[in-house]
Amino acid sequence: MKPVPLLDLRAQHATIRTEIAAAVAELFESQQFILGAAVEACEAELAAYCGVECAVGVSSGTDALLLAMMCEGIGPGAEVVTTPYTFFATCGSIARLGAKPVLVDIDPRTYNLDVGQVEAAITPRTRALMPVHLYGQMADMPALSKIACARNLPVIEDAAQAIGAECAGRRAGQWGLYGCFSFFPSKNLGGAGDGGLITTCDPQRAEKLRRLRNHGMHPKYHHQLIGGNFRLDALQAAVVRVKLRHLDQWTAARQANARRYDVLFAAAGLAGNPVGLPTHPHGAAAATPAGERHVFNQYVVRVPRRDALRDHLTAAGIGAEVYYPVPLHLQACFADLGYPAGRFPHSERAARETLALPIYPELTDDQAACVVDAIRAFYR
Ligand SMILES: *Cc1c(COP(=O)(O)O)cnc(C)c1O
Repeated sequence: MKPVPLLDLRAQHATIRTEIAAAVAELFESQQFILGAAVEACEAELAAYCGVECAVGVSSGTDALLLAMMCEGIGPGAEVVTTPYTFFATCGSIARLGAKPVLVDIDPRTYNLDVGQVEAAITPRTRALMPVHLYGQMADMPALSKIACARNLPVIEDAAQAIGAECAGRRAGQWGLYGCFSFFPSKNLGGAGDGGLITTCDPQRAEKLRRLRNHGMHPKYHHQLIGGNFRLDALQAAVVRVKLRHLDQWTAARQANARRYDVLFAAAGLAGNPVGLPTHPHGAAAATPAGERHVFNQYVVRVPRRDALRDHLTAAGIGAEVYYPVPLHLQACFADLGYPAGRFPHSERAARETLALPIYPELTDDQAACVVDAIRAFYR
């Protein structure tokens, strides 16, 4: 049996090799490596794709989060409400600004922030709400927006895994004051290295973000703000522009793969028990209703004996990954937040029980069948 990787970026590259080569060659001819036409075009195309007024290219998804908070003046003494079940950067960027991540447990069905617990986490020091659209499925943004509106708090969406995702008919980045995206190669729209983007519908904030990403400089060599070097490389912008042309087709392929897994797991008698499939509050995630769009950056199942299953799959040549084995409140560097083990039971259970399976667009029917067969063999 041929191995099935968790992600096969070489298979994707094979389909766009000539387009990428042409875009890179064109950029080298221009020698415009810092900001310039490629970055501006990339920003305009992504603003249109996300359905927002403005987009600002930055150095990474992490820096997108950092800059959005800098733009709001978030620093020491401020609190930002978010989830412990996410990639480190969500809380890391809050803490790096000297602010405090205030955590709320997840909804065990979607692994996203349990919006029902957000109100209770808000204090007079709260300066922003930061939902994460985990694995490509959006948090409950209608409910969260209501709270944010009532409390006059900005929403900063961590949309690193969710470009093109939709909730109640609106895209990731269209709900918050800021949407933060990542071009890390394993994201649905990945560059050839690091990169990121901030979306906003407020042109004044977009202008401030443009200054902050370039040392707070405006005009040249004059600084009213202290920013940094958070620019998106033109080379990354050129690559991302090529890939954006294929993104909807790749997303459709990811969704088709998710539906295929759902069917295969059901046919194998594994669906639900022992293999908990990805869900939406209304049912199967792969069959979300109109206006909802899960973009499946990951296809994550909940299983008993997770670590043993992962070892079994690895031995069978099948890529599977644990996102994330240690929730952020239990990380050594966040011990001073004072959250004990057991404080966020749904996050801790997800960290113990979930496993991501290969879902990349180029995954074939045979490969998906192989994955399900190997899982069936494990639970037999
Ligand atoms: C990838 C990711 C980030 C960080 O993006 P980088 O571009 O790697 O800095 C932040 N939050 C989440 C949820 C992510 O998945």
